[in-house]
Amino acid sequence: MARSRLMEISGWGNFPSQAAKVYRPEKMSEVRAVALDAPAGTLLARGLGRSYGDAALNEGGSVLLDTRLCRFLDFNPETGVLDCEAGATLEDILEAFLPRGFFPPVTPGTKYVTVGGAIAADVHGKNHHRDGSIAEFVESFDLMTASGETLRCSREENTDAFWATIGGMGLTGIILQARLRLTKVESAYIAVEYQRAANLDQALAAFAQGDEKFQYSVAWIDCLAAGPDLGRSVLIRGNHATAKDLPPALREKPLHLRAKRKKSVPINFPGFALSPFSVKLFNSYFYGKYEDGPHVVDYDAFFYPLDSVLHWNRIYGKRGFFQYQAVFAPGDGSRCLRELLEKLSASRRASFLAVLKTMGKGSGGLLSFPMPGQTLALDLPNTGPDTIAFLQDLDRVVLQHGGRVYLAKDACMTRESFHAMYPNLPQFNAVKAKLDPRNRFSSSQSRRLGIGGGV
Ligand SMILES: Cc1cc2nc3c(=O)[nH]c(=O)nc-3n(C[C@H](O)[C@H](O)[C@H](O)COP(=O)(O)OP(=O)(O)OC[C@H]3O[C@@H](n4cnc5c(N)ncnc54)[C@H](O)[C@@H]3O)c2cc1C
Repeated sequence: MARSRLMEISGWGNFPSQAAKVYRPEKMSEVRAVALDAPAGTLLARGLGRSYGDAALNEGGSVLLDTRLCRFLDFNPETGVLDCEAGATLEDILEAFLPRGFFPPVTPGTKYVTVGGAIAADVHGKNHHRDGSIAEFVESFDLMTASGETLRCSREENTDAFWATIGGMGLTGIILQARLRLTKVESAYIAVEYQRAANLDQALAAFAQGDEKFQYSVAWIDCLAAGPDLGRSVLIRGNHATAKDLPPALREKPLHLRAKRKKSVPINFPGFALSPFSVKLFNSYFYGKYEDGPHVVDYDAFFYPLDSVLHWNRIYGKRGFFQYQAVFAPGDGSRCLRELLEKLSASRRASFLAVLKTMGKGSGGLLSFPMPGQTLALDLPNTGPDTIAFLQDLDRVVLQHGGRVYLAKDACMTRESFHAMYPNLPQFNAVKAKLDPRNRFSSSQSRRLGIGGGV
C-alpha cells in the first residue's frame, strides 16, 4: 500500500490552506497503486503548487505529488522534441537543454512549474499573441484515468481526452508523461526594448503599433496611478538574441549564464509591511528604473524576475494573497481594462505592479483560459471577506465585457460567474463523465465551481 502523510497545503497565494492525504510516488507503478488503492474519496494530481488558489488542493481527499517523477525519457536534437515525465520542471528543461540550444516554447512568469501542471493549466507566456499557449507545442501525453488505464492522448488519438485534459486542471486523470516541442535558440539572452507609457492610452497605442515586431511582449502597470496617470506603465518587449546581437564578452559562450545567488524571504512578513504607501514607493521606483530603448538581458532576468527571490509570496504575510487574472475580448478590451483599473485605484488596495499582455487565439482546450484580447493580472493582499467581495465585483465587470478569469489563479469566483465565463463546460463535463464516471478526480476548486458534477 502506498504511503501518505496528512498535510496542510496551499497554493502559491497561501490562501486557502487545507488538509489532505499527500502521496509522493517515486515510480510509475506506485502512481497506479495510488490511483486505484488510495482510500475511497477523491484524488488530485499536483505539481509544484504554483497555482495560486485552490486548483491544486483537495480538502479532505488525497493529493498525488508528481515531483519525483521527473525523468527525461528521450530527446531528438534535430527536431527539439522532448519526452519527459510530468514532474519534470521548466527549470530542469532549461538546465539540460538550453546549453544545447533549446528553450521552453511557452513559459509562465516562473520556471518552478512542472510539465504536468503546465499542460493541466494550458499555460501561456509573453509570446501568446504570436505563438499561443503550451497546447500548441504538446504533441501527446499519457493520461492515467480513474480505472487505472493509461491513454495516449494527442490530436489524432483520444482527442476528446486530449482537449479536456489541456487546461482541465487535473480533473480528467493524472498526466504521466508528455511529448513537447522545444524552441531552437542561439543564445540565453533576450534583445529587449523598454518603453515607458505615461497612461493607458499611450500603453495601448504602443502595444497596437509595435507588438508584431516582438515575440515576447508585456507591460507592467502601476495600479495606484489614477486620474490622468491611470494605466501608467512600462512596456517590456523582446526577441531571443542571436549570437550577433550579443556584446563581444558574451559571444564566446552565448548559451551559458553564470550561476546567480538567490535571495530568500525567510518568514511571513507582518500584515502592515504592505501598505498602499509602501507599494506606491515601490511602483514609482520601478517605473523610474527602466531606461527607454534597446538592451540585452539574460533569460532569467527577462522571464523570471520574481524567481530571484525565493518564497517571495511570504511578503504578503500569513493571510496570504490573491492573484487575479482576467482576459477580455478585443475591441472592448480598453473599456474593460479602464473600468478594472479605475475600481482598483479607487479601492486604494495595495497592488504591486500589475501585468498586461495581449493574447492571440485560444487553443481548443475545453476549459483553457486564453482567448483573443488583453489579459490583466494583479496581486492583492488578503484582508478578509472584503477582498473576496471586491474580486467578485471585478468578475462582474469582466463578465459584462465577455471575458473570463483564469482557473490557475482563482480562489474565489462564484459558480454562476464561472459557468457564464466558460461556455464549453457542458462538453468538458461530458468527456469527464466518460473518463471518470464516479468523479474520482476532484479538487477544492472543482467542487466550489461545480465542475464535473462536483458539489
Ligand atoms: C510567479 C508566478 C507566475 C506565473 N505566471 C504565469 C503566466 O505567466 N502564465 C500562466 O499561464 N500561468 C502563470 N502562473 C501559474 C502557473 O503557471 C500555473 O498555475 C501552473 O499550473 C503551475 O504548475 P505547477 O506544476 O505548480 O502545478 P500545480 O499548481 O501543482 O497544479 C496546477 C493544476 O495542474 C494540475 N496538475 C498538476 N500536475 C498534474 C498532472 N501530473 N496530471 C494532471 N494534472 C496535474 C493540478 O491538479 C492543478 O489543477 C504563474 C505562477 C506563479 C507563481
